[in-house]
Amino acid sequence: MHSTAARQTLIFDADDTLWGSNAYFEAVIADFLDWLAHPELSHAEIRAVLDDIERANAVTNGYGSQAFLLNLAECFRTLNSRPLDAAEQRQINELAVDLIEHRVQLFDGVADTLEVLAGRHDLKLMTKGHPDEQTRKIAASGLGTMFSSIHIVPEKNPDVYAGIVAAQGLSPSSSWMIGNSPRSDILPARAVGLGAVYIPSSDTWVLEQAELDPDDHGVLTLGSFPDLLRHF
Ligand SMILES: [Mg+2]
Repeated sequence: MHSTAARQTLIFDADDTLWGSNAYFEAVIADFLDWLAHPELSHAEIRAVLDDIERANAVTNGYGSQAFLLNLAECFRTLNSRPLDAAEQRQINELAVDLIEHRVQLFDGVADTLEVLAGRHDLKLMTKGHPDEQTRKIAASGLGTMFSSIHIVPEKNPDVYAGIVAAQGLSPSSSWMIGNSPRSDILPARAVGLGAVYIPSSDTWVLEQAELDPDDHGVLTLGSFPDLLRHF
């Protein structure tokens, strides 16, 4: 187990760890399903079609609101055997206006907790998504100055973690990844020997879910973000 008495490097995920994100996407999907008003398929069946499209396109289109809008358009095309017309595209953009404008709402206690932790440890931010979009969200959060470095990456896999560990000269035994996603935050960080702090969100995208090993003592699971102060 890691020692936390000494100065540690704490690497934070952003979406659904520092601020809400998935809830905005879910709200747009709910409105999209209503708007489609499909005569035969249930919402759950259409949602399965959309999940498959999102899973397949993440490799080529990445993540974020623009990729998401393309996925909604492809879902429409798949179901209706024709593309959206201009008026329909405008209606979908209208459903997604909160996403497109990058509204950021911090979770309770995040700003105060980070401020205390920044006095004790070296804080970094690592988020995946479109660089311009994530940069705007970080700016909107007002948290940018808390971090000694910010890494916006296309995907969070062990190679990407290993690259940041090497480039930043981090010691895995005193470095931790903190996030809500088993798939993107916890498993790949553990794969390269970092400690991991799992803070489950009530709202985590289905594509981010994965099994964690309950016997892995390198993973600390916390109930809320401010609980970090009791450990670091
Ligand atoms: Mg996240």
